[in-house]
Amino acid sequence: MNNDNQQSNTISPRDAKWREELRNSMSAKQRTAIPRAKMPELDPAFRVTCSAEVNQGLSQGQAMLEASRCMDCPDPQCVTGCPVGINIPGFIKNIERGHFHEAAVVLKETSALPAVCGRVCPQERQCESRCIYHKMKKQPVAIGYLERFAADTERLSGTGELPARLAPNGKKVAVVGSGPASLSFAGDMIRRGYEVTVYEALHEIGGVLKYGIPEFRLPNAVVDVEIDALAAQGVKFVKDCVIGKTLNYDDLLNLGFDGIFVASGAGLPRFMGIPGENFIGVLSSNEYLTRINLMGAGRPGWATPAPAGKRVAVIGGGNTAMDSVRTARRMGAEEAFIVYRRSEAEMPARVEEVKHAKEEGVKFLTLHNPVEYLADENGHVRAMRVQRMELGDPDESGRRSPVPVEGAIDEIPVDLVIVSVGVSPNPLIPDSIEGLEVTRRGTIAVNDLTLQSSLPLIFAGGDIVRGGATVILAMGDGRRAAQSMHETLSAR
Ligand code: FAD
Ligand code: SF4
Repeated sequence: MNNDNQQSNTISPRDAKWREELRNSMSAKQRTAIPRAKMPELDPAFRVTCSAEVNQGLSQGQAMLEASRCMDCPDPQCVTGCPVGINIPGFIKNIERGHFHEAAVVLKETSALPAVCGRVCPQERQCESRCIYHKMKKQPVAIGYLERFAADTERLSGTGELPARLAPNGKKVAVVGSGPASLSFAGDMIRRGYEVTVYEALHEIGGVLKYGIPEFRLPNAVVDVEIDALAAQGVKFVKDCVIGKTLNYDDLLNLGFDGIFVASGAGLPRFMGIPGENFIGVLSSNEYLTRINLMGAGRPGWATPAPAGKRVAVIGGGNTAMDSVRTARRMGAEEAFIVYRRSEAEMPARVEEVKHAKEEGVKFLTLHNPVEYLADENGHVRAMRVQRMELGDPDESGRRSPVPVEGAIDEIPVDLVIVSVGVSPNPLIPDSIEGLEVTRRGTIAVNDLTLQSSLPLIFAGGDIVRGGATVILAMGDGRRAAQSMHETLSAR
């Protein structure tokens, strides 16, 4: 993991003094005796009837108590588990002493989107997985809940000022795509005095944060605050503009851009290539979620047809699969189930998403893999044939590989199938720019450190380089690309 902001963890003498006093205000035994905070959640029976956010956020009292569990370790391993090296004890200790604005300021030093990351980062595999509490066989400090608390408190208090901006430096940069990589790049460059224009193919800004992750997990209002703040700082957003179609690379050069950051994501759905995938009622997660989240399918007053089903199968075990199956429950599915070829232990989805899905009545058909879809006389899917699997030896991912159990094939009735078995990089940019080097996986090839591509003006990051990763990694790339593009353009 790349910690590109470790300097924020240096403690000033003033901070060291209050941190020392705070540390001495409670014994380690008292701190470790406090149970981990429980996130207040909406009742499952109610939440499947609407798109309201499931996690309600910690109260002030809960947050301050949870913050007091943190031991302020001299060598905090949680920080090494964060892909962007957030000063974790620094913001947590500010929450403990009730200085919420300062906590948000510490977060903003490193993370452009703390309210988003506090909600969707897989903390259980990152920062929280390295918390010292694990050594005591206790639950880790709830770093994600506290990050969300500090960011939300700042947002709702309305006290957050816009970051200071250097005087315009006369240089302009273009950004392709408007997901987390682009938003963090745009924020860093506008503050350095660049003129920044973001081009987005869709009619909404935010990338997967808007069209992929549903409202019940990440409300649009949370993302909009960040976008509005960037617009208020002077970032220009151009929607409905497909780079490579509406405008091409030469057009961008003719518009006088000094640098281009490409963060066009990995939104090209993959299918399994099995018979029947073209039947009506078999579609990708990407299409399903985009129709509902971005194009109003199922909402009064919107013309987009809603793909409806009473028995809905979602194929896959990642976050996208969980978001789809939980959305299907909210769209009226009586039975919604995950079909996954490995066991639950190998599922890449966040633990919290699996827990929430189960609470909402989602069934899990693990160790099964679809081999064919069957249709009725109108060409609409009516059933799926699934192969039973067992676990063999670990593969290159370290997970035990699924092996078919010979002759064990079942037929299951379904009327909607959502395929969520992975995504590939969006090919338009790599295909449309001559001389841009692309890897065998279709991602843009970049220098690992600077994120500069084979064309010196173009830098790239996020999923178009990583091929489907996480919000925090995309955001970290945006910051790193901004730093190296700035160094390159300043040296000219
Ligand atoms: P994206 O967010 O994909 O944004 C790319 C943008 O570029 C899109 O808006 C696209 O329309 C635009 N674009 C593409 N081509 C062009 C073009 N030619 N011209 C102009 N614009 C273009 N990660 C987590 O950390 N936690 C989670 O819980 C989580 N859940 C997820 C759930 C779903 C349903 C999905 C799909 C992904 C999830 N992820 C999650 C992954 C995470 O969202 C992505 O890794 C991240 O959004 C990548 O950011 P990005 O900026 O690279 O691209
Ligand atoms: Fe606090 Fe855990 Fe990090 Fe130690 S490892 S500083 S206890 S969050």
